[in-house]
Amino acid sequence: MGAYAGVDLGATHIRAVIGDETGSIVASHKTETPRGPAGIAVTEAVLDAIRQACDAADIAPTDVLAAGIGSFGPMDLAEGVVENPANLPDTIDRIPLTGPVENLIGSEQVSLHNDANAGVIGERFYSDRNPDDMVYLTISSGVGAGVAVDGNILSGWDGNAGEVGHLTIDPQGFMTCGCGHDGHWEAYCSGENIPRYATQLHREDPVETALPIETEEFSAADIFEYAGEDEFASHVLDQICHWNAIGVANIVHAYAPLVVYVGGAVALHNPEKVLEPIRNRLDDMVMSNIPDIQLTQFGDDVVVRGALASALTGGTGDPSQRV
Ligand SMILES: [Zn+2]
Repeated sequence: MGAYAGVDLGATHIRAVIGDETGSIVASHKTETPRGPAGIAVTEAVLDAIRQACDAADIAPTDVLAAGIGSFGPMDLAEGVVENPANLPDTIDRIPLTGPVENLIGSEQVSLHNDANAGVIGERFYSDRNPDDMVYLTISSGVGAGVAVDGNILSGWDGNAGEVGHLTIDPQGFMTCGCGHDGHWEAYCSGENIPRYATQLHREDPVETALPIETEEFSAADIFEYAGEDEFASHVLDQICHWNAIGVANIVHAYAPLVVYVGGAVALHNPEKVLEPIRNRLDDMVMSNIPDIQLTQFGDDVVVRGALASALTGGTGDPSQRV
């Protein structure tokens, strides 16, 4: 068997899988992401996850022909490292990935991607149609996209081509983004920012609502749960759908995808409440072809599958370019 490895490095969990030449997963291992003391501890945990997955597949790490890694950012792709990740403690400044994984498997066939790019590589590889023009959009603790245009996975300067969560969708700049700038998509629609946005709207216009606003537990899930019954929650969700549709319309005009696959916890937990309003609004916003808006086929596995697909296809997700 030709063996390939895929790794999903997330803020809370690391998952490593071993797959065969068809991209079928034959073994996997999941562990918690260490929160210190330094970045090298995360590197070690990634290497250990690969070793454990190899054990489960009954192979040695050196039997792995190629590996792909999908990770949170920001990253220095040329160096193969994650630099100063925002979602881990400050003591974690640099996480070397590409070099140590090359050493472990004894192969230089190791590719590193941000998680959204890994997502689009996975969607592309495993898709029946295998379109050259497609987008994977994640709506999770952040908003981001992986983009394939003309069969190329867009990377951009320092790998920042798909940072669509920082598209300005509200020129009034009602909300300030975690990056410090006003009016960015993610400031309204990410899982963490949805309750902040609702709270801010409520301060502007303190109408009666059943939502547990101003409590510790108030979360995005409350908005989705109360919408339809509570007038204010319905209003907030309608606004969120409005911003999502503007963001997706901008993506459509920039990249002309045939299909936009949507993943991330916010979309996975509320697929119809997130996707249907986007579909309904695009007609009035888009001047060119309107793509299919689909939920990712792979749920929480999309990044690790994309990392595996990257290993199989030299980082392209194109089944005709198998290594
Ligand atoms: Zn921003």
